[in-house]
Amino acid sequence: MGSQEVSTVDWQGKHVTVAGLGVSGIPAARALHERGALVTVVNDGDDERARAQAAELEALSITVRLGDGATLPPSTELIVTAPGWQPDKPLFLAAAEAGVDIWGDVELAWRLRGDNGRKAAPWLAVTGTNGKTTTVRMLASILEAAGLRTAAVGNIGVSLLDAVLGEQEYDVLAVELSSYQLHWAPSLRAHSAAVLNLAPDHLDWHGSMEAYAADKGRVYEGNTVACVYNAADPATEDLVREADVEEGCRAIGFTLGAPGPSQLGVVDGILVDRAFVKNRQKQAQELAEVSDVNPPAPHNIANALAAAALARAFGVEPAAVRDGLRNFRPDAHRIEHVADIDEVAYVDDSKATNTHATEASLAAYDSIVWIAGGLAKGATFDELVTGAAKRLRGVVLMGADRALIHEALTRHAPEVPVVDLDRTDTGAMSEAVEHAARLARPGDTVLLAPACASMDMFTNYNKRGEAFADAVRARAETSA
Ligand code: ADP
Repeated sequence: MGSQEVSTVDWQGKHVTVAGLGVSGIPAARALHERGALVTVVNDGDDERARAQAAELEALSITVRLGDGATLPPSTELIVTAPGWQPDKPLFLAAAEAGVDIWGDVELAWRLRGDNGRKAAPWLAVTGTNGKTTTVRMLASILEAAGLRTAAVGNIGVSLLDAVLGEQEYDVLAVELSSYQLHWAPSLRAHSAAVLNLAPDHLDWHGSMEAYAADKGRVYEGNTVACVYNAADPATEDLVREADVEEGCRAIGFTLGAPGPSQLGVVDGILVDRAFVKNRQKQAQELAEVSDVNPPAPHNIANALAAAALARAFGVEPAAVRDGLRNFRPDAHRIEHVADIDEVAYVDDSKATNTHATEASLAAYDSIVWIAGGLAKGATFDELVTGAAKRLRGVVLMGADRALIHEALTRHAPEVPVVDLDRTDTGAMSEAVEHAARLARPGDTVLLAPACASMDMFTNYNKRGEAFADAVRARAETSA
């Protein structure tokens, strides 16, 4: 059977254990129950919310076991797990011993696509340590500009299961996949896929960098048209080499420099395609201008090239690439320009929650007052600080692990002034912005790019970004 064809499973009477109530577990349990499976949901937590969710499922005569996600229910033939559940959990060890398969939410969606009689749309998949959401949304914008029925789905916050089983019929899906989702998706076969970059992240979950990379690399398995890699990140190209793809599938690189044959790149401010053209040895096709990319920061141009490569692999015309990039508006808190005050730009990149993202962010500006800190998640900051030292006008640090960044600054950029904020209350961000404004000179950028998670001080990175933007706007009003 060809890799893109739909396979059918006979669910009638099959004992399926769904691991985890929640965003993926509840729709999975319902979908399987509707198909005649005998579903048991197991969940670690047993709080009020879980009990309310359990009651809804029990009303459908689905069995729910709260407060015990560790024991494998007897007669389980298949486990469908929430993607975040760690592979070394006792439930999975017991499943391995009993020879029971484990699927994640993505695997389930892949297997169920088309079984409601609707067309099974091909998937264009994107993974990587950073830039996934942006790239997938750019890709969806390009596909829309080409007149295709599409949606940005997956790890982006839109359930793949809903997309494949819903009323709407699609020509193609732009799918964001996390490393966790890929880990649990053994038979997924995308039309084409991109790995944007690879930097250490979530290593506690995967166990090692090798295991993390291997899970990311699964996105290339069985690709039919293109495996898109980052020419500046050889680890992504290695993954293409290791992948088992369909006959005729091509490796396509993207680069911020001039493209070689089978690459997309940039020449004199123009995004060009030297991969999906008739004679790639001699010809290149103009796709868009760098100024069509929003914002035109280097890492974001790379995202645009990756999105363009996937769209071109699907047969999209150059003009639609340009229009799609022009129509694209970035999500909040991703290099978001908040205001200019006294000739200083204030930029919110609260989504830069790891050092790799922050490195890209810091590389986008010449002279920066950097606001950073939070939960470091085991990261070290020496490389980041060394790379950015020359462009730092000053630094304002806050949050639980700020001392780690301070120590790196002392080691590698001792001349850069640092303000160390020893407070975690709601007013802390306002004070950080005040200090940053004092340090900044006309032409500078005050950049919130924390390189850390936010949960020590904020509910999430959105709230952190909003606190920054509120403080900046309050300042703009007083200085107006
Ligand atoms: P993801 O979905 O992978 O978390 P996002 O598109 O939400 O990615 O971007 C997250 C953060 O990563 C952004 O705030 C930005 O600072 C940074 N970023 C975006 N694209 C890239 C890239 N190609 N390389 C490095 N960092 C990037």
